[in-house]
Amino acid sequence: MATGKINVSVENIFPLIKKFLYSDHEIFLRELISNATDATLKLKHLTSIGEAKVEYGNPIIEVKVDKEKKKIHIMDQGIGMTEEEVKKYINEVAFSGAEEFLDKYKDAGKDAGIIGHFGLGFYSAFMVASKVEIISKSFTDAPAVHWTCDGSPKFTIKEAKKKERGTEIILHIAEDSTEFLEDFRIRELLKKYNKFMPIPIKFGTRTETLPKPEGAKEDEPAPTKEVDDIINNPNPAWTKQPTDLKDEDYKSFYRELYPMQFEEPLFHIHLNVDYPFNLTGILYFPKLTNDLNIQKDRIQLYQNQVFVTDNVEGIVPEFLTMLRGVIDSPDIPLNVSRSYLQADGAVKKISSYITRKVADKLSSLFKSNREDFEKKWNDIKVVIEYGMLSEEKFFEKADKFALYPTVDGSYFTFEELEAKIKDNQTDKDGKLVVLYASDKEAQHSYIEATKAKGYEVLLMDSPIVAHLMQKLETSKEKLSFTRVDADHIDNLIKKEDTTISKLSDEEKEQLKSEIEAVVQDKGYTIQLEAMDSSASPFIITEPEFIRRMKEMQQTGGGGMFGMGNMPDMFNLIVNTNHELVGEILNTKTAKKRTRLINQSLDLARLSKGLLKGEELTKFIARSYEMIK
Ligand code: ADP
Repeated sequence: MATGKINVSVENIFPLIKKFLYSDHEIFLRELISNATDATLKLKHLTSIGEAKVEYGNPIIEVKVDKEKKKIHIMDQGIGMTEEEVKKYINEVAFSGAEEFLDKYKDAGKDAGIIGHFGLGFYSAFMVASKVEIISKSFTDAPAVHWTCDGSPKFTIKEAKKKERGTEIILHIAEDSTEFLEDFRIRELLKKYNKFMPIPIKFGTRTETLPKPEGAKEDEPAPTKEVDDIINNPNPAWTKQPTDLKDEDYKSFYRELYPMQFEEPLFHIHLNVDYPFNLTGILYFPKLTNDLNIQKDRIQLYQNQVFVTDNVEGIVPEFLTMLRGVIDSPDIPLNVSRSYLQADGAVKKISSYITRKVADKLSSLFKSNREDFEKKWNDIKVVIEYGMLSEEKFFEKADKFALYPTVDGSYFTFEELEAKIKDNQTDKDGKLVVLYASDKEAQHSYIEATKAKGYEVLLMDSPIVAHLMQKLETSKEKLSFTRVDADHIDNLIKKEDTTISKLSDEEKEQLKSEIEAVVQDKGYTIQLEAMDSSASPFIITEPEFIRRMKEMQQTGGGGMFGMGNMPDMFNLIVNTNHELVGEILNTKTAKKRTRLINQSLDLARLSKGLLKGEELTKFIARSYEMIK
């Protein structure tokens, strides 16, 4: 037996590592299994090129917990190490790797988030173990070796009796880490980090029920057998070629990723690129609700089938973080801070590649099956609209397939919409006016009035639609979006004035002051308009600009500063050509006039959804009185 002292500049590196990574202790298992996987894959390579003259077979990795003796064993059947190799790779490489890691870690700072996910390797074992043993037998003829180290730079090394090729790591779990001696905890970690690693990982056994032998009696129990419990799927769907996968395979992989998710995904996008960077993965479009926040952080990031994180911020464009699925790339630098990550050239390329693939997929779905695309629109529009707002490149592509549904359930692309409404909905200044509603029920009377005029009404009801309209208005020329209740019908799309008022100027003055006297403290701006006699006598409108700015501020960003807190602004439009308005003017008794005005105002408020509470109760009582 020999003892030695590892040559490091930091005298005692282990306590430091332990302290720095206090929250990430659990990664030790992932690191050790990664090493075991690498060792196995190296052997596979060497046998395939004829450099290792051994049978590769069907190697597995085994994890065993010995709760009584407070040990965890990790065993592989990979290339193994000779004494020389242990000295070199463990004492030197792994050690200097750990030192380097510490340096980087200190530089990057503690808030790096993703840091600590990678880079520590073998020595992460000391985060949970007070003593570590390596028993290894190289695939060559060299004798097996036994290395022991208690966390100080001192180690012992001697020959071992191990006959089978491969490496066994034995962790003597420290007093403060006994949680890792629980089977369920280890199983949880294996499921979290190693669920898709390429070499089968055994953790204990499980009972498998076999088919009953022929002629077995009804009440005879089916025979069972103990089999290895392999916790991972070594060949997950994203590592395969898209041509080898059917729709059902993608769906079942989705269930494997999200076992608690019962809803099927709407469609998937298979990512597969090897130049100028390496990236594979599958993204799924789930059914999305209008709540943007709860749906994030479902995409899992892997590196060579090893789970890294489910926070892909900075790697995937923000608007796509609502999707689900897997991204696997060895080219994403993980031992750096988030802000550095976002500035990294490779990461930028990856992010724009993903954006492009998503846009292309949507475009091909739109072209190949428009009907189906329309059906799915409501469930996917949030992502698309968000993408159009935040990524210029995506906007350019999506502009061709983004849909604008009407309140009657037809779907138009912008180009189709423009062609359809151009003649009827261009105002006197040559501006195309797109009319829309945000709520079919609440704005029913306005929608009806608008449709009666032969105008098309869109249904724009997603949470960020105000921002999108703003964006469309600025990127396309001579375009404006106007909600159906933004003004009275003749003003929604201003054309040359044709309707003549039945009232003289003096009559108008008189009417205005009489109405003002009744509604003065209710906060409406009164506006007399000579409209069609069949249009409503009183109409409440809400000017587009202020309302939209307020909405934009409520959904974050954009809009004008301070607008969010402004009171709502309403106009009261009085149709001077309506019979009832004529009656108000001609009524001699003030009491009756007041009643007519109040009742008309309440009807207008009712149709705008503004009549509530005590006022609604009073209105109902008054109406009963009137019909008696
Ligand atoms: P890294 O894996 O990043 O190189 P590690 O500190 O994890 O760094 O390991 C150092 C070296 O020790 C590895 O590169 C490998 O050569 C060797 N090694 C570690 N674990 C094993 C193992 N289970 N089988 C064979 N070699 C191993």
